[in-house]
Amino acid sequence: MSMPTQDGVFLWQTEAKCGGMETSEFFDNEREAKKTCRTCPVKDECLQDALIYNYDGVWGGTTYRERRKIKHTEFLREDYIEAGLYNPKLKV
Ligand code: SF4
Repeated sequence: MSMPTQDGVFLWQTEAKCGGMETSEFFDNEREAKKTCRTCPVKDECLQDALIYNYDGVWGGTTYRERRKIKHTEFLREDYIEAGLYNPKLKV
């Protein structure tokens, strides 16, 4: 997990492919935003922080709704592991 600087940006954002682009693109045009993310060198870092900080819009090549699904799946997996019920052969 990384922390944003005092300016509210993450250090990995200096390498972001979307740097200098209109941020509205990442809210209004998901398809085009995802195209940009596909080849972004900091896609993993971006996704990780978007999952942690619950940002809206496209981050790390995913929409808010897609990230909610990822978080839900992770939550279930952790729950199953804690209960000793997790079977890695089964996809939760
Ligand atoms: S993954 Fe997408 S939203 Fe994240 S920094 Fe890269 S281009 Fe921007």
